[in-house]
Amino acid sequence: MSYIFPPPNQTALPVRGTQDLFPVHRVYCVGRNYAAHAIEMGHDPNKEAPFFFQKNPDNILLDGEDFPYPGMSSDVHHEIEMVVALKSGGDNIRAEKALDCVFGYGVALDMTRRDLQAEMKKQGRPWEIGKAFEKSAPCSELVPANDIGHPVEGEVWLKINDEIRQQGDLNQLIWKIPEMIAYLSALFTLQPGDLILTGTPAGVGPVQRGDRLHGHVAGVGELKVNVV
Ligand code: MN
Repeated sequence: MSYIFPPPNQTALPVRGTQDLFPVHRVYCVGRNYAAHAIEMGHDPNKEAPFFFQKNPDNILLDGEDFPYPGMSSDVHHEIEMVVALKSGGDNIRAEKALDCVFGYGVALDMTRRDLQAEMKKQGRPWEIGKAFEKSAPCSELVPANDIGHPVEGEVWLKINDEIRQQGDLNQLIWKIPEMIAYLSALFTLQPGDLILTGTPAGVGPVQRGDRLHGHVAGVGELKVNVV
């Protein structure tokens, strides 16, 4: 037996300071996980359980590559987020054991066709067309937890053309990383290679062609992407 065409290349992220690659399995994203962002999107952060959506592994764009402004939208937004990378998984993982599954951390952008997402929300339809499009998940190299530990605080910001647009702190996450892993593992079988984008602080807004995006998570890393 042989494949009728070559199987797709494995999406992989570099690991800082090594020649190693982290092979990506799934990309989970948590919605509205900072109170100030929930409020700016018109929601009450106190009334809502967290929720998840997915991007496709091959939507990942590597640090330093260009982000091509996608079609079918005139309102593409930036959402800067810390990403958690899993080296192991399972079902019904207890929060107290969840950090054992974490390989490391990185910096990601959850690029969003906000106009399409808003239309889908209004119609009660899935968000894929707003969230899971080509190159919609720029992601930095990963840094192993063995090197930096498990960050629970630290500034998160995004600059566009050297101006601060988003700013927050990991200590503002409504659902903490062990809770997210535990919650997700009750819904899905988590696997080595899974990524979790942990939500964005306030200040989301549109990008334009020509913009230089620079994301930062203190103690974790940097991500630089140009919009073309
Ligand atoms: Mn997001």
